[in-house]
Amino acid sequence: MDYVSTRAGGPAVSLSQAIATGLAPDGGLYVPDTLPQHDPDDFDPEAPLERLAADLLAPFFDGDPLADDLERLCKGAFTFPIPLTAPRGDKPLFRVLELFHGPTAAFKDMGARFLAQALSAMEQPTDDPFTVLVATSGDTGGAVAAAFDDLDGAQVVILFPDGRVSSLQQHQLTCWSETVLSLSVRPDFDACQALAKRAFADPDLTETFRLTSANSINIARLLAQMVYYVQASLQVEAETGQSANFIVPTGNLGNALAGLWVKAMGFPVGRILFATNANKTLSEYTLSGSYTPRASVATLASAMDVGAPSNFERLSDLYDHKTMVEQGIAARSVPDEAISGQITRDYRGHGIIWCPHTAAAAAVYDDLDPHQWARPWVVLATAHASKFPETVEPLIGEAVPPVPALAALLDRPSRFERIDDDVEALGRAMRQRFRPVQRPVR
Ligand SMILES: *Cc1c(COP(=O)(O)O)cnc(C)c1O
Repeated sequence: MDYVSTRAGGPAVSLSQAIATGLAPDGGLYVPDTLPQHDPDDFDPEAPLERLAADLLAPFFDGDPLADDLERLCKGAFTFPIPLTAPRGDKPLFRVLELFHGPTAAFKDMGARFLAQALSAMEQPTDDPFTVLVATSGDTGGAVAAAFDDLDGAQVVILFPDGRVSSLQQHQLTCWSETVLSLSVRPDFDACQALAKRAFADPDLTETFRLTSANSINIARLLAQMVYYVQASLQVEAETGQSANFIVPTGNLGNALAGLWVKAMGFPVGRILFATNANKTLSEYTLSGSYTPRASVATLASAMDVGAPSNFERLSDLYDHKTMVEQGIAARSVPDEAISGQITRDYRGHGIIWCPHTAAAAAVYDDLDPHQWARPWVVLATAHASKFPETVEPLIGEAVPPVPALAALLDRPSRFERIDDDVEALGRAMRQRFRPVQRPVR
């Protein structure tokens, strides 16, 4: 299969090339040139995830040097369960897909682990380690560090916004081995992202440390995320005889895009709703058809504080506005008061503890036209509530015990350095920790 840019410039590339480069040379995002049509009956809803993943992804790897590694990549990436639960007695067709059982308790683990496996399986030009540089608003950095922690030949540099992540998020950004360098940057995530961009544009730094990106527009992350939509849609259909409808906590549209591709591939998926926070770029697009990216505002669901969703180009590549609406795809904006109200209400009423991002999706569910509740709806739980104690605990009036994976991380010591927002400072910190490459790459 070939991969092409959403801006339709430049040549088609292989999957390996699309993964290794991240962004297309014309600034667009890579998409498959056609989406394979699968027959859902060929898939067993009870199959282990790694099996389902390998069968689903085979056509996407067709003809690529990594094709022979696919089974191994799936084994290495899908190492934890993704349960589909029915936690509300009053709404028997309400389902929650728990995406928080990985090493850092957020859905970013799936994509990051698959990407890490793929990058380290690629033929390397030298024996020197490559360096993954990642700017994070909180969850991606930890997932990437965890994904590379036990892989040879890679080291990781994390840039996170000083004082803008939860205490638990900060811990899981800063508790890794010598091969992970954690750096905090002022004042915000935009500054981290801009610094990473400048580092990638710096030939000296790029060569000296063999810099590679693991950012969220990488196609490998989307491919991995499709797996849990397929499994959930098959399980819902087997149980209810109906297509599954999904509500996805959404920021950059990476998670939601994987669901849209699964729908387009012929799996039993009905509607897909994007639950956003007070950042309204997508909900305004749903209503008006006009897309107006802007700076983000800070909310309780901070991992979705996005005013210019990076995967929007992939959405508009798949559907124009009219088709999107006809397909039942829409975004709904949920303000902070509704997020906190939902956390309190569902804890009191059902004993469910949401993370702030998942709470936005649960609020969208409660706001549906009541006749919609006669259909199966799946809320994607994108993180475990214990990752956001500052927000969640005051609302429910008690402590949220961390999931086992997070509890294990809490035993490790945390360390990080603050650096100035410039490439010089980043280069100094990297030279102090890591050895420059021995042989030039070319
Ligand atoms: C990243 C993240 C999101 C948003 O996902 P996108 O792919 O950016 O839309 C939602 N919830 C949590 C917990 C996240 O970490």
